[in-house]
Amino acid sequence: MEKILTVNHLTTQFSSKGISIKAVDDLSFHVAKGETLGIVGESGSGKSVTALSIMRLILQPPGKIAVGEIFYQQHDKNIDLLKLSKKEMRTYRGKEIAMIFQEPMTSLNPVLTCGFQVAEAIVLHKKVSNKEAKQQTLKLFEKVQLPNTDQIFDAYPHQLSGGQKQRVMIAMAISCDPKILIADEPTTALDVTIQQEILKLLKSLQQETGMSIIFITHDLGVIAEIADRVIVIYKGKKVEEAAVADIFKNPQHPYTKGLLACRPSFNTHLKQLPTVDDFMLTNADGSVQSKGETIEQVLQRFEKKNGSVKIFENKPLLKVENLSTHFSENKNLFSKHHETVKAVDDVSFEVYCGETLGLVGESGCGKTTIGRSMLRLIEPTSGSVQYEGRDILQLRGRELKDVRRHMQIIFQDPYASLDPRVPIGESVMEGLQIHGIGS
Ligand code: ADP
Ligand code: MG
Repeated sequence: MEKILTVNHLTTQFSSKGISIKAVDDLSFHVAKGETLGIVGESGSGKSVTALSIMRLILQPPGKIAVGEIFYQQHDKNIDLLKLSKKEMRTYRGKEIAMIFQEPMTSLNPVLTCGFQVAEAIVLHKKVSNKEAKQQTLKLFEKVQLPNTDQIFDAYPHQLSGGQKQRVMIAMAISCDPKILIADEPTTALDVTIQQEILKLLKSLQQETGMSIIFITHDLGVIAEIADRVIVIYKGKKVEEAAVADIFKNPQHPYTKGLLACRPSFNTHLKQLPTVDDFMLTNADGSVQSKGETIEQVLQRFEKKNGSVKIFENKPLLKVENLSTHFSENKNLFSKHHETVKAVDDVSFEVYCGETLGLVGESGCGKTTIGRSMLRLIEPTSGSVQYEGRDILQLRGRELKDVRRHMQIIFQDPYASLDPRVPIGESVMEGLQIHGIGS
């Protein structure tokens, strides 16, 4: 098969305070015309840095592409993207190779309408009139199956759902008919139903255009569905490369075995899941060594460890009874008529010590509001939430603060909960300070 992209010995490093780390370390791979190459690895393994290196979007300093060649096959010429001037690179980025990111909110500009942002990209690359660009944008919105395209054209990003925002991003990415689409965890922030729709959309766009896709994910289930071939990377290095079926049937590297084994299975319910460390040892020089067990052997060992589960013998730690949280919404700005939205409606459940309770439902069904109501980050309308026998909904002041310390939330979107202007350490310390923990 004809190669459209060939990456040779790519090494990208970041330096800070005199220490430099290789985020991508001597990585070589290729992408064939029309194929989908999956890049898999745990968080921090160097997937995004690989993608950003190809796009030449590594911020320099602290980043630097130290070694390597990235050949892009254009017509009959092989062009080393790393040798292009910044100006020349701009004619490839977006037009030949486009990229979509995990978090659309960080790539869409919140103060511009969705339609404007896509149309602007079209005007820039295709040198067409504004009117023509708008027409093309509306067509693209149809192509990525957005509803009410006229309305979405004029909508700001925050007015769209996560899946819709991702569709806008895809529309923008394919607006100039790129030959390669790099999708960096494009479905990770979405719920499973929407995730499926986006995968289907990408596949059908690929069938239509024949473009190559580099699909980056930590999720092996997604890889199984979308990729033709896979490379597995670990600490910036390629540890395995195979056709997608072979990766699942016959993984060679202990790291790949670990990745496969640490997915929860529907059939057996382990108290503890194996991790990559159950399959390999990392030597001081960064090289890895297999521990020798097969996936089946490790899983059997973990099943034996399971023992009997005693979680439900004690009293529940948390008891939620008939919890309701209603919002009243003005129907429109000028009417006095209020409409009540029952975001949470008469919900009861119990949580036991050591238990993991799953709360499942489609987007908008009230999951987040239940969590926030339990901590009274939103005031519930009625019901009770008993933590170790005390009704949280009746507590005030110090007592409420004290209980909150024992119940914590991790929010869906880390970008929205970490203040970008505050260093990580300070953000973490803030909670400790509020609760007077430590000096
Ligand atoms: P992945 O996408 O696989 O989760 P990344 O490619 O984002 O991982 O990161 C690989 C490594 O490079 C990590 O150790 C990360 O901390 C480091 N890294 C990424 N971006 C930067 C940056 N801008 N400055 C310093 N280090 C970075
Ligand atoms: Mg990443």
